[in-house]
Amino acid sequence: MTTSARGDRSSLRTKRTILRRKPERGAHNFETIASILDEALYCHIGSVAEGQPFVVPTGYGRDGRTLYIHGSAASRMLKSLSSGIPVCVTVTLLDGLVLARSAFRHSMNYRSVMIFGVARKVAGEEKLRGLKVITEHMARGRWADARPPTRQELKATAVLRLDIDEASAKIRSGPPLVDKEDRGLPVWAGVLPFALVPGQPVPDPQLPPEVKLPAYLAAYRRPQGHRRA
Ligand SMILES: Cc1cc2nc3c(=O)[nH]c(=O)nc-3n(C[C@H](O)[C@H](O)[C@H](O)COP(=O)(O)OP(=O)(O)OC[C@H]3O[C@@H](n4cnc5c(N)ncnc54)[C@H](O)[C@@H]3O)c2cc1C
Repeated sequence: MTTSARGDRSSLRTKRTILRRKPERGAHNFETIASILDEALYCHIGSVAEGQPFVVPTGYGRDGRTLYIHGSAASRMLKSLSSGIPVCVTVTLLDGLVLARSAFRHSMNYRSVMIFGVARKVAGEEKLRGLKVITEHMARGRWADARPPTRQELKATAVLRLDIDEASAKIRSGPPLVDKEDRGLPVWAGVLPFALVPGQPVPDPQLPPEVKLPAYLAAYRRPQGHRRA
């Protein structure tokens, strides 16, 4: 289903994306979903091929309402997806471990996205654009710095697009839940925060000494600043 078919461009809510469990943690507005997609670095693509479910972790990039993924043209995942089979893509950001007084109440703080759709292979200008979007998703400014793909490299690479028309976000935040009878237990409870933060860049040992670290890597953080919705 397309957003225009629903007549509402901002909500990606459909029958399939309505949260049944803990619906109060759900969001379907495009901005929330886009912000999670822009902060995370990789996704998991689930699909069924010949009755067998596969869930494959891979990188991606977002351009407006399109998600691009790429891989070797010989990859089984890319081959089967480009035939136009339905997929379910998930993206997760871990924000913290939620340590409760009771084992039962342990949880995680997170922001996650689930997208449903059909991935399609792209070619020509859009293929190059998809590769740029994926590269820039890793590090903004990288496409202009790196050598562009050769014709041979392009041939060996498949790029797929998935329209972000049907999706949901789920967000858990805050302290652990505590049952009344557990409140006085002498057990530490709270949240151990987690975040996606880069370490210090490590130069390739083969790098000529005159090649300096680019500013966009020295100041790298996620999300990488403002993105076009
Ligand atoms: C890091 C992490 C840890 C988690 N740990 C647990 C756990 O230990 N136990 C547990 O039961 N659940 C856990 N969850 C939540 C889990 O992802 C499911 O939301 C939950 O299990 C309910 O699944 P369901 O199929 O019954 O959801 P339903 O509510 O029936 O799903 C209906 C629709 O809601 C949307 N939806 C559901 N879950 C998500 C999601 N996570 N992100 C975006 N959209 C979603 C989808 O569109 C889906 O089709 C965790 C989630 C994350 C991200």
